[in-house]
Amino acid sequence: MPDAPSVPVSTDRFDALARLVTPQADRQQLSVRAPYDDSVVGTVPLCSPDDVQAAVTDARTAGDEWAAWPVEDRVAVFHRFHDALLDRRESLLDVIQSETGKARADALEEILDAAATARYYTTIAERELTSTHRAGAIPLMTKTVEHHHPVGVVGIISPWNYPLSLSVSEAIPALLAGNAVVLKPDEGTPFTALWALELLRECGLPDDVFQVVTGEGPRLGEPLIEQVAYVSFTGSTEVGRIVAETAGRHLTDCSLELGGKNPLLVLDDADVEKAARGAVRGCFANAGQLCISIERIYVHETVADEFRDALIRETRGLTLDAGYDYGHDVGSLLDRELLEKVTTHVEDAVEKGATVLTGGRARPDLGPYFYEPTVLTDVTPEMTLADEETFGPVVSLYEVESVSEAIDRANDSAYGLNASVWTARPQRGEQVAARLDAGTVNVNEAYAAAWASIDAPMGGMKDSGVGRRHGRHGLLKYTESQTVATQRLGLLSPPKRGKQVWATGATLGLRAWKRLAEVLP
Ligand code: NAD
Repeated sequence: MPDAPSVPVSTDRFDALARLVTPQADRQQLSVRAPYDDSVVGTVPLCSPDDVQAAVTDARTAGDEWAAWPVEDRVAVFHRFHDALLDRRESLLDVIQSETGKARADALEEILDAAATARYYTTIAERELTSTHRAGAIPLMTKTVEHHHPVGVVGIISPWNYPLSLSVSEAIPALLAGNAVVLKPDEGTPFTALWALELLRECGLPDDVFQVVTGEGPRLGEPLIEQVAYVSFTGSTEVGRIVAETAGRHLTDCSLELGGKNPLLVLDDADVEKAARGAVRGCFANAGQLCISIERIYVHETVADEFRDALIRETRGLTLDAGYDYGHDVGSLLDRELLEKVTTHVEDAVEKGATVLTGGRARPDLGPYFYEPTVLTDVTPEMTLADEETFGPVVSLYEVESVSEAIDRANDSAYGLNASVWTARPQRGEQVAARLDAGTVNVNEAYAAAWASIDAPMGGMKDSGVGRRHGRHGLLKYTESQTVATQRLGLLSPPKRGKQVWATGATLGLRAWKRLAEVLP
């Protein structure tokens, strides 16, 4: 085993974070490990379904008061959170890296994302949550107002790959909308969420409004989904189906952000060098453990050789290592299970005729779960990784004869999360984007342009999800909309006598209304 850099966070600090798990009880402990060397960094309580119930009950009580705060006071908490997060980023980067094994620059992306999310939602919250007058049933006679009330308690179930972005960035709009939140982070990465919880309390979020329960998903999932008003799930498509079924049984509203097998298209007019650099970022950011990362590349035959050479060169230029600094580009995979999945996918492909252009092996000399950034070609449909999400640093390169073929093959997938198009003509890229089955499409970027456009919705088509995060919808999904219509004059029902006259009048009225709508601006 190589000498791994020592974890830069003390055991006492991890213990202090573990004590934030509510409710505190004498529970069995769950060990959290550092992927760099598989050492235990700390433990958190293995919460029970009763703990979930207690957390939801406490959250509900605290949430009632929080919901009564003026929106600007709730906004002020997240303004402070934004600044504090950036000020204390080094300490949080250490925690994120300790439990994920990712490269520091990948961890920083999470902090930038959470801060940008806080900034965005603090900017729009007041406007979007203010009650709005709507066109009434009959102009002047009906006054109609749309309100947005908090739903109550929101449950968030999050994965390990982006433990800050996919838990706290999701909690921000839910809390700003006046809800309480109970978060169940992944078993492997609870400390990042606990660190953020501590900071939010320091920034003025009342105790109990945001709770973290730690433990096993299959045991805590149903009790959580059963008791909350809304569940936001991010994770695999397989578990997403279970969450959807459970939510359906309890009529709990939900959004599901699931897996992807995301394509990147290099058109015949693309700047090949730039496309290769973008592709490398898209394939190997976070060691490929990114729902929107690229696992399939379709390159036009006229630029295929040039692109392949640039892709191999750029991939080989990546530095792979462990370290709590910015000294390397790619970090470790999370654990043995993921390493085995990546290894099996590549071995299966090679056995069935795929060619490894670069990478293709684990690197135990760097740490137990390191795997080299890998580019494959000659991938055929019977290989597991042709369709299945690998969720690691492996991409398949395919040559195509036309743009239409690239689009058809990109769309030939059960997933529809993210896609990327490279071309010298952005308008052409946007036309191609419109033909792709993907919730987000990046033109001349791999994933970051769409993800970081927080004002626009983000989510998956097909098996990649239900619902969206980001944008105004990402806030309003955590509200119950309510329409209050006050009839000022008359009744909208037919009179007891003279229904024929009423019918004629109503018909004429509708015709006149349509005509008016056509002529008025
Ligand atoms: P996962 O589905 O195994 O786990 C996600 C969460 O669900 C964890 O907190 C886990 O404890 C919990 N869970 C497990 N079983 C459960 C059950 N029966 N009921 C309720 N909760 C349960 O996913 P993962 O392996 O942690 O994450 C990787 C997957 O997530 C990949 O498929 C990736 O593409 C996807 N993902 C999607 C997005 C997105 O925005 N679309 C973002 C990140 C990751």
